Amino acid sequence: MTESAASNSTVDRDELRKNPVPGCINHPGRETTLRCNRCDRPICPECARKTPVGYRCTECVRQQQSIFDTAIWHDYVVAAVISFVLSGLAGALLVRLGWFVIFLAPTVGGIISEIIRRAVGRRRGKYLSYVAVGCMLLAGIFNLTMWGIVYLFIAATTVYSRLRSISI
Ligand SMILES: [Zn+2]
Ligand SMILES: [Zn+2]
Repeated sequence: MTESAASNSTVDRDELRKNPVPGCINHPGRETTLRCNRCDRPICPECARKTPVGYRCTECVRQQQSIFDTAIWHDYVVAAVISFVLSGLAGALLVRLGWFVIFLAPTVGGIISEIIRRAVGRRRGKYLSYVAVGCMLLAGIFNLTMWGIVYLFIAATTVYSRLRSISI
């Protein structure tokens, strides 16, 4: 956000009534036909934020992010323990199967991320994926064989992308 956007964040209602083409909510002087698709207020291209569901004003984007970051501190502990224990166990078992880990690691990653999601009550947190992957890597230190590393790479990237995709 620019300095002028921060200082001019109130809507100039009179300006809106006089002017058939509405001005941006942050920059009343700027005419714009673009609207936030959540609150329907006019926004100039500079203030519009592109989201997967269309253009939104910065305020709505911020509100949305706080809804999606609902994890509480013990969710991180739960995610850490689950990923450390399960990934450590799965890694130790899977390396015995040799090259077969290539096929099983994505499944294991999927299972671990699903268990984490359920254990944290489907709450979302920006850093849950980092915590989970960090603990998987930590558990992987005890399993530094070639297939152990292959397993870890595949399973960790699966967990990372699964936990990321629900946190957007
Ligand atoms: Zn909005
Ligand atoms: Zn603007």
